[in-house]
Amino acid sequence: MKLYNKNTLQMKKHNFNAGPSILPREVIENTAKAILDFEDSGLSLMEISHRAKNFQPVVDEAVALFKELLQIPEGYSVLFLGGGASLEFCMVPFNFLEKKAAYLNSGVWAKKAMKEAKGFGEVVEVASSAEANYTYIPKDYTVPADADYFHITSNNTIYGTELKEDLDVHVPMVADMSSDIFSRPIDVSKYICIYGGAQKNLAPSGVTFVIVKDDAVGKVSRYIPSMLSYQTHIDGASMFNTPPVVPIYAALQTLRWLKAQGGVKEMERRAIEKSDMLYAEIDRNKLFVGTAVKEDRSRMNICFVMAPEFAELEADFLKFATEKGMVGIKGHRSVGGFRASCYNAMPKESVQALIDCMQEFEKLH
Ligand SMILES: *Cc1c(COP(=O)(O)O)cnc(C)c1O
Repeated sequence: MKLYNKNTLQMKKHNFNAGPSILPREVIENTAKAILDFEDSGLSLMEISHRAKNFQPVVDEAVALFKELLQIPEGYSVLFLGGGASLEFCMVPFNFLEKKAAYLNSGVWAKKAMKEAKGFGEVVEVASSAEANYTYIPKDYTVPADADYFHITSNNTIYGTELKEDLDVHVPMVADMSSDIFSRPIDVSKYICIYGGAQKNLAPSGVTFVIVKDDAVGKVSRYIPSMLSYQTHIDGASMFNTPPVVPIYAALQTLRWLKAQGGVKEMERRAIEKSDMLYAEIDRNKLFVGTAVKEDRSRMNICFVMAPEFAELEADFLKFATEKGMVGIKGHRSVGGFRASCYNAMPKESVQALIDCMQEFEKLH
């Protein structure tokens, strides 16, 4: 099947978009096929019931692969919902915050999550790196022992900082893993809830994954509207209402791809390799400097700016790199400079192409 016009004159694009972002080619092709003809049914994936006999196995396999790839212990449910990570900012406190919750303020997404929680109870900001424009992840803090949960953002997509290991705290954790899910093994047993928008590492936008500990739900005394209650979606196995069918199908293709590639250990190995390559060039090249402190550097979102003495070259480099096929490397407006998002599907060759670009540009100056 011909999916798009292969114009041989069109240059290869290296997709560093922060989100929605790069997906494996076969994920896009398989999803495109299913949109034209879902499993030889003569119908499009877009025009069948989510309760169709041939769609239920899609959800079941996606849940099973989630559990297998992340080694999710017994007693957890995997949900596919709508609303994005932003709706989880509100669902988390709705479902888990009875009196007090602790939040680590490591970036704008963390801050937004905290803002929503304030409507439901006492919110303790254990630490913040806002004063340094979130260039590091705070480390010395204590989490109140009586907090219902401790909320973290494992990867700060905008600032390029990442918690690359699970923390050790004495309170159950909740994590926004929108932008680093499946990029390393995680100890799910430390969390009562892990959630994320799919559009960075898993699928097109429109589906939100939630891993939730079943017995952590149902402990708050407030009324929770059905659609916002995790219990509803656990009971309904993500079919309480019509779920985002096409993004779930695409997520399944990514999960199969992840497994075939060797799973999260292999993704971690690749993420280390790719990010080490790019950070080495940033540190070596006289034109550029990284923005995040070294120990907290993200493997997923690599942020850098022009060195102060070359500041006026920023627009030139963007133009130079764009002409060589780099896409989406302009930094977020709150950091400036450049951000190269190197998610699971990003091939090493694209990272190398960006490095080549940086070296060629350096020779010109
Ligand atoms: C992109 C992003 C979000 C927002 O996700 P939506 O699905 O658009 O609501 C939240 N948290 C993090 C860490 C993100 O990268």
